[in-house]
Amino acid sequence: MQEKNYAVVGLGRFGSSVATTLYREGNEVLAIDIHESLIEELVDQVSHTVIADSTDEEALKAIGIRNFDTVIVAIGDDIQASILTVLILKELGINQVVAKALNKRHAQVLYKIGADMVVFPERDMGERIAHHLMSPNVLNFLKLDHDYSVEEIKVPRCMVNLNLREIDLRVKYNLNVIAIRTGEEIDISPNPAKVLGAGDVLVVVGANRDLDKFTDLT
Ligand code: ADP
Repeated sequence: MQEKNYAVVGLGRFGSSVATTLYREGNEVLAIDIHESLIEELVDQVSHTVIADSTDEEALKAIGIRNFDTVIVAIGDDIQASILTVLILKELGINQVVAKALNKRHAQVLYKIGADMVVFPERDMGERIAHHLMSPNVLNFLKLDHDYSVEEIKVPRCMVNLNLREIDLRVKYNLNVIAIRTGEEIDISPNPAKVLGAGDVLVVVGANRDLDKFTDLT
């Protein structure tokens, strides 16, 4: 993956997790917070740290924020500061501004003033955990829209030692297998004659109702 540079504003649990993960993956990361104590904790885990108030446009300019392709606004409870920061960043011409929202209204305002992506970390993680508890065979999923998703699904026991042609997911379940993962290896154009092993994972795309039928198999 190509290295990029990111700035993260607000180093609570969410912001610091985003910042340190981006840095660990080899990206340049500037971490900004109004409080010194949080900055000190992250000094060795990001490229640069700055104490600044992100609602102060001049302070952001002085940091050189315009050199960053993507800025993540992870300010928590202070909705006013979050909105003002996003507004300033978009006015300064930042290409991609990602912002954390506390609720739907907050998200609507963030989009209105130009946020490119709005995330709800608690809600999204809650959905993921609930989904996993209901369907333990589903290891991961990506919603494409309201009705369609891509899911990583453990090969059901009844399909072990059969090949893709035999399980015939396209006809029987209306689903397409786009890849098969075996341990660390991923086969992105699996041969129809490929026999499925017990620990294999199918990466499947289709309608949610069809995916649900398939994940009910064991
Ligand atoms: P989380 O729920 O992810 O832990 P928090 O609300 O605890 O989020 O953290 C938000 C962070 O944003 C805090 O560390 C706070 O100091 C920082 N913050 C709030 N307002 C500003 C601002 N105007 N400029 C920079 N950082 C800010």
